[in-house]
Amino acid sequence: MIQISEKDINNLKDLIVQTKNPLIITHYNPDGDAMGSSLAFYHYLVKKGKVPTLVTPNDYPEFLHWLPGNEKVVVYKRNSGTVLNEIKKADAIFGLDLNDVDRTEGLEKYLNEAQGKKVLIDHHPDPGNFADITISNTQYSSTAELVYHLIDSLGDSGLVGKTIAECLYTGIMTDTGSFNYNSSKPYTYAVVSKLIEKGVDKDKIFGKIYDNFSVDRMRLLGYCLSQKMEVFPELNTAIIGLTKKELKEFNFAPGDTEGFVNYPLSIKGVKFSAIFVEKNKGVKISFRSKGEFPANKFAENHFGGGGHKNASGGYSDESYEEALKKFRDLLPKYKKELNDAL
Ligand code: 5GP
Ligand code: MN
Repeated sequence: MIQISEKDINNLKDLIVQTKNPLIITHYNPDGDAMGSSLAFYHYLVKKGKVPTLVTPNDYPEFLHWLPGNEKVVVYKRNSGTVLNEIKKADAIFGLDLNDVDRTEGLEKYLNEAQGKKVLIDHHPDPGNFADITISNTQYSSTAELVYHLIDSLGDSGLVGKTIAECLYTGIMTDTGSFNYNSSKPYTYAVVSKLIEKGVDKDKIFGKIYDNFSVDRMRLLGYCLSQKMEVFPELNTAIIGLTKKELKEFNFAPGDTEGFVNYPLSIKGVKFSAIFVEKNKGVKISFRSKGEFPANKFAENHFGGGGHKNASGGYSDESYEEALKKFRDLLPKYKKELNDAL
């Protein structure tokens, strides 16, 4: 069982008692764990008698909008004045699922200048050193699992009701691909068991997150797999690329390509998968790998990104074609590593 140091717990406990203006923030392009862990922590602070502000750098997919507390989220991209003011006012800033302030895309400067005490609560590798209290461990499946452990360690597991449990379950389920990866530790299931005891309906949450494709999104997935997927069997790799024009043809909505990158990993022998999505400026790239091949190092070394060993992302400010060419040209250099990866 992973331990959180007594010193960190005591410092956090004091900070939660003292804070009058807590602010919670998560990473750019928030995913299920970013929103689930942040909202759970939001509801926890409310139960502790606080009035927290919850900030996301930008919008997040529709399939997360059912989460309890969604209406409380302040999106920086649409409310920059309010957010900058709240960051200035905050006496405690909690970064959830956020390993470094540069993952807030534009808020870095304001967070660095902020006077409030900073707390990092995360499970990504390489935590930045911006926080006064850093509670970060890659052994957790998700930040949501860590948040449960934290609340429990603070002596407050009794405050976890159905609302917090639903948020936490969403984070754990999405960051493990419904318990398909990153989920081999008994503690994950001990937490899930507690959350189900608190009233989580796991099948209902699965349906809300995954069984909600629009017809266009389902057709876009079919198009990706049948027309746009390139497989390089000798390199154990597959790529999907989507241009802005193609996205428009399928009436793209934010979040529509979420998860597509995982499909090629179901092909026998494929250990590394990437999706390149053309944006108004540059190209957003997601990487997934199986086993030993470090998708995060690849993203970090070549596409200014990072993430977890088996799930990472990055960005290219080159053109769509150039970004794909760069990736295809890089692959042979990794042939041995890919072939040998277990
Ligand atoms: P996704 O492919 O779902 O956008 O991201 C997968 C994982 O990689 C997430 O854990 C996310 O935190 C990380 N990630 C995605 N994009 C970036 C990026 O541009 N920089 C870094 N450092 N991590 C990223
Ligand atoms: Mn996460």
